[in-house]
Amino acid sequence: MGFATDAIHAGQQPDPTTGAIITPIYQTSTYVQAEIGKHKGYEYARTQNPTRAALEANIAALERGVCGIAFASGLAAINATLTLLKSGNHVVASSNLYGGTFRLFVRILATFGLEFSFVDTSNINLVEAAIQSSTRMIFIETPTNPTMTISDLAAISRIAQAHRLRFVVDNTFMSPYFQRPIELGADIVIHSTTKFLNGHSDSIGGMVVVKDPEEGERLAFIQNAAGAILSPFDAWLILRGTKTLAVRMRQHDANGRAIARFLGGQRQVQKIYYPGLADHPQHELAQRQMSGFGSMIAFELGSLEKANTLLKHVRLCSLAESLGGVETLISHPATMTHASVPREDRIRLGITDGLVRISVGIEDVEDIITDLEQALSRL
Ligand SMILES: *Cc1c(COP(=O)(O)O)cnc(C)c1O
Repeated sequence: MGFATDAIHAGQQPDPTTGAIITPIYQTSTYVQAEIGKHKGYEYARTQNPTRAALEANIAALERGVCGIAFASGLAAINATLTLLKSGNHVVASSNLYGGTFRLFVRILATFGLEFSFVDTSNINLVEAAIQSSTRMIFIETPTNPTMTISDLAAISRIAQAHRLRFVVDNTFMSPYFQRPIELGADIVIHSTTKFLNGHSDSIGGMVVVKDPEEGERLAFIQNAAGAILSPFDAWLILRGTKTLAVRMRQHDANGRAIARFLGGQRQVQKIYYPGLADHPQHELAQRQMSGFGSMIAFELGSLEKANTLLKHVRLCSLAESLGGVETLISHPATMTHASVPREDRIRLGITDGLVRISVGIEDVEDIITDLEQALSRL
């Protein structure tokens, strides 16, 4: 089946008891058993829940994996994935990971004996050079937040295979509609479903998708044993979100391209980070491994004062963290999402005080442009 068909139907059958077309929210903690050891496959709701199972099958199908494992947040999904490793294992990770992922790695997991090297994974040579005898995993994000740097999924997966390492990709920014890392050789795909997959800014959740059934069993064991599960209501919301993923992503992409073009013509904008622009340093790679460019754009205004002026004057665009919802969100990475990154590291990554990030929503794009135009005119 095609992607949009899978998005609407995969993992879901009419409810067996009533025929309800939509998988119900099974808001229960336990299941009644007929006799000792005789039950319907459901014993306790941390371990199994039908609403959650439907969502897990749905997103696994969209990512072309064999199994999905849902968690209470993107970070819970990442944490669970890293607990596949053991103390003393080393991870090669992208130098510009989502701030919360970096914080989890260095402030929590490193204290349990996991070791990390953070490198610019858009440079294959740096990835290869960072591998040690204790390396067990490569963990990347592509594109990165907020400067939209692209790493070559197929090339990194060849390195991972050669060294027998798990290759993990946080695919939150692109969603499986535009990028499917498993098809390019990744072993594990992670999502913050909070973003594009749910898409309506009303739920926090995470998902891990794997291509190896045994790895899926290990992660399901961790899901149950450590217990950071996704609630049935959130699973239902995200299932509702994925039904419109294809149409939403098409519109996000169209609006993203239009806003990037608009920003390119504004004298107040010194630089634009968007892989869909021909002058993006990895535009060709982006075209090769992604089927669209999405709606995440960062742009440089030159100073904190100018960024502040713009953010104070936008009216339709909302100043807020997060991304991937139907409404346009605008933010200031240096003081918001990346405030915990030391200043020199931030500047090195291009996250200057004048940088603004926009998650272009699916409103009428003329209205977004009019809003940005009036706010830019104050600079
Ligand atoms: C938001 C985000 C996360 C964390 O997800 P939560 O659902 O907020 O825990 C991880 N990775 C990326 C790329 C994100 O954007």
